[in-house]
This record gives sequence, C-alpha cells and structure tokens, in this order.
Amino acid sequence: MATEQTHFHPQEIIRKKRDGTALCRAEIEFMVKGITDNSISEGQIAAFAMAVFFRDMTMDERVDLTRAMAHSGRVMDWTNAGLGRPVVDKHSTGGVGDKVSLMLAPIVAACGGAVPMISGRGLGHTGGTLDKLASVPGYNTAPSPELLTKTIKHIGCAIIGQTADLAPADKRFYATRDVTATVESIPLITASILSKKLAAGLDALVMDVKFGSGAFKEEYTDAMELARSIVTVANDCGLPTTALLTDMNEVLGRTAGNAIEVRETIDFLMGKAADPRILEVVTALAVEMLVLAGICDATTAPLAVQGALTSGTAAEKFAQMIALLGGPRDLMTDMDKHLPLAPVRRDVIAPRRGFLGAMNVRAMGLVVMELGGGRHTAADSIDYGVGLGNIAGLGEKLGPRSPIATIFARTEAAAQQAEAAILRAITLTDTAPKRVAPVATKLTREDI
Ligand code: URA
Repeated sequence: MATEQTHFHPQEIIRKKRDGTALCRAEIEFMVKGITDNSISEGQIAAFAMAVFFRDMTMDERVDLTRAMAHSGRVMDWTNAGLGRPVVDKHSTGGVGDKVSLMLAPIVAACGGAVPMISGRGLGHTGGTLDKLASVPGYNTAPSPELLTKTIKHIGCAIIGQTADLAPADKRFYATRDVTATVESIPLITASILSKKLAAGLDALVMDVKFGSGAFKEEYTDAMELARSIVTVANDCGLPTTALLTDMNEVLGRTAGNAIEVRETIDFLMGKAADPRILEVVTALAVEMLVLAGICDATTAPLAVQGALTSGTAAEKFAQMIALLGGPRDLMTDMDKHLPLAPVRRDVIAPRRGFLGAMNVRAMGLVVMELGGGRHTAADSIDYGVGLGNIAGLGEKLGPRSPIATIFARTEAAAQQAEAAILRAITLTDTAPKRVAPVATKLTREDI
C-alpha cells in the first residue's frame, strides 16, 4: 500500500465521497487499511458505506477498492502447489434451492479444472452452500491450508468456508453494511465478492447473477447492472471473468433446504434424477468455466461435461472430496443414514386443479427459514433435516396427486404454518404459462 497515506483523515475522505467526488487510489487504500486494522471506527465505516451508496463509485474506484480489500489479508498462490491445471471458480449471487456449486465443482474437477470453492453461509431467504455441506456428518468446512491444497491436488475440488485471513477488510466492512442498510450498493457488492475471489488466487471466474422473485436483485436490469460492474472490475483487476444471468422466478431444482439439497445433488451426480432446468444451468456454467480457463473449447466443453456426468467421474470426485474432508465414505449409497430428513412429512395440495402460474420464490425461501433451515441472525443454528422436496416448476399441472411441494418439518404446527405460507406464495392458472429459459444472457468483457 502507498506510504504517503498517513496524512489522510477518514472524515475528510468520507466528506469528499459524500459530496460526490471520486476518490484516488491512496485514499481508498487508506480507508481499507483503517477498516482492517480497526483504526477507523464502525461509525466511520457506516458513513463511508452510506456515502458510496448514494454517490456511487467510478469503475476505477471500484477496481482500487476491490484490489485493496483483496490484499487486506492473505492472497492464495497456487503457482508452486503443482496442480498442473487452471484454477477456476464460480460464484452465484444466491437463490433458493441453489445447489449448483455442489454439482459444478466435481464436474469441473472431473474435466480437468482445479476448483477451490470458497462458499458462504446462508442469511435471509437464500440458502448457503456451506450450510448444505455442513449437513454432511464429519465434513470439515475449515480445513488447514495443507489439507485444502492436498484435496485440490488429488481430487481437483474442495468446497470450504471463508477463512479469517482472506479479505479480512470485507468481513468487517460487510458486518457494518449488514446493519446499516448499505448491502445493496453495487460498487460495494462488487468489491465484496471480488476481493474474496482475487484472494483465492483464481485464474478464471464465472459469475451466476440471478434475477427474479427469489434473487437478491429481482429486476433483470438491476441484475444486469451488477453483472456489468463485476465483469468490468474483475477483468480490470486481471481476473478473466464472464457472467451468466439466470432466472430465479422458480426454485432451482426440486428441493430447498440443507440435507435435502445434498440428497438432490447426489441423485443428480449419480444419474438417478436430474431436473432439466438445473441441468441446463449447471451445464452452461460448467461449459463457461472450462472455456474461460482454457481447458476446452466451445465445441468440446459440453461433451466433456456430459461425459463427466454419464461416466460417473463427477460423482466419484464428489464422493472423494467428501471422504478426504472427513465425511462418510458411504454417503452416496446410504443417504438415509447420513442425511436424514425431519419426520413430519406433508404434501401441499393446491385447492383446485390448475397450473402453477407463478411462485413467490423469496416466500418459499422464507418457508425453509421458518422451518429452521435458515438463520434469522448470523448467530442462529440450523436444522439440517427440514426443508421442501418435490417442488413444482412453473407450468406444471397440479392436482390431488401432484403436490406443489412436500414439507419436511420437525413438528405438525411448523408443517401447518409452512403449508399456509406455500399456498399464499403460489398463483394457480387455468392455462400453463410460457416457460422461460433458465439461462437468459451471457455477458463478457467485450460486451460492455
Ligand atoms: N455477497 C457478498 O459476498 N458480498 C456482498 O456484498 C453481497 C453478497
């Protein structure tokens, strides 16, 4: 970081941003250093975040903020790890039933990528990949750097949690944003996501930016604005990045919860059941990762992905990753033992015959949360066995034998409450609505 930064005062930098002036790199580095070493107070972080929220940042400021936050802690370096394969990752802005990471990491590993996937916990209506994996007994989401490297080297993928030494500025900055209504700022989201990805030492990144009723950015135009920001800043920071904009107006796959989503992942990888929409999203993201990392070209990538699934090598990678990181060796063959579901099971039946015309996906995510499968506050613990299965997709015919969803709850009262909320979350129609493709757009640096 620049040495001349000691003469800055946080309040002057906040004032400058408050009045709409762009900050220089040294000023941004000074703020990030102060956030990291606690020399800037929580009040000053909050004021700075609110000033950025209202006054925005130029792309150059976003690049400086992202770089400074990425370098606020350890930056992983895979060059001497002897991986012999490009390091590539995917990041999703989050959705309901989004177990894509669990499927994607072993597929890309089976196709020749190295995937150190650093995932987050869920908060609010969206689930977190880390919570889903934590439902696997014994699985270590915080391995030592040595075990992480060993897993990536021998298996090709490891899905783990954020460590305290990666982008620590983001940890403190995000905690303040979370309680000061400043999470939604696009420059701050961009720097938050990308600082962690740059610190992971990637060669390439594919973003899954979701839009729709279950997404963080509901409107397509807002999701596109976020995607443009991330693709621009990441590439300007030297990380080749593209984005896919994907639909979150229906739950992704047939399940939402924790253990139940791992069960769906295992069925998917073992070729037992694959919801066509999730297959489409997973395939599109895997192809993009393989092409961007230079492992395949656009013609060979779809074949490689299909091969990894049909040959069972992706399933094998998943099983090996689970076992090396402490989970059961027979997870794939004894899900009932290792991934039990809550005992109260209830099918939600529509009040009349019809088609599923619309679904408030955010409300479905909140149902899972209320069942105990998500957190109200960061300190809450999670019930891994609760959740929803058999979730209908838009346009599906509903009737007495075709439920909207199956609830897995701990108590009858919780199941009853969930049923009422699900019935409120859906719209029944007499004709099937037009289906939309789950992958709407691809955005590259050249498109901007
Ligand atoms: N996810 C992040 O990691 N950071 C944000 O700011 C928003 C979503």
